Amino acid sequence: MHQSHRGHGSYTHGRGRAAGDRPGRGAPDRRREIGPEPCHGRNGSVQRGNDPWQRGLKGVQKMEKHFKTIDSIVWLPHRYAVGQTFYKFYEGLREKKILGNVCPECGKRWVPPRSFCPVCNTDIKDWMEVSQQGHIESWTRARREFYGQPVRPPFLAALIQLDGTDCRFLHLVHKPGLDLEMEKDVSGAVSKGQRVQAVWKEERQGHLLDINYFEILD
Ligand SMILES: [Zn+2]
Repeated sequence: MHQSHRGHGSYTHGRGRAAGDRPGRGAPDRRREIGPEPCHGRNGSVQRGNDPWQRGLKGVQKMEKHFKTIDSIVWLPHRYAVGQTFYKFYEGLREKKILGNVCPECGKRWVPPRSFCPVCNTDIKDWMEVSQQGHIESWTRARREFYGQPVRPPFLAALIQLDGTDCRFLHLVHKPGLDLEMEKDVSGAVSKGQRVQAVWKEERQGHLLDINYFEILD
């Protein structure tokens, strides 16, 4: 497996928890993983340092008149049941399989799978393993970090059409050796239609980011 760019051993700096994990069973402290925490001054005010999230606060505090303001942080941890369909999809990822399903009525092949067809509203029961290769339909370079983001910028996000499917699959793409800080290098190296191949993490936990990224093959 390729080590990714610029010293990051992995695209992610947080590891999303599977639905079955619970705090207190060795699960890491999520707050330390998904974004910077504020620094508080002696009077309790938030200190704007050099991290991008704090810099983002500056823009919203420029006002014509003076109003008393209080900086505060909303922290909203949550957990949701993924349901039967996505449970099967995530468990497939743990086994290095990308599972989709096919509508019995219109024949559309979906990935991630759907419990019912979004085109003809028919319940879907027929599963299939889909190709781990496809092509880029569209892409963007993310370079601004926001609070709670599971992947540290810069990174390339793309809508990928996996071979044999009828929809787009949102994931990360990467080309070994590409410096994602250099916008010109990236725009010259990434384009619609390029072939991509899934690159898996060594340790998987039943999560979308068990696929580290899709490597650009062209
Ligand atoms: Zn259908």
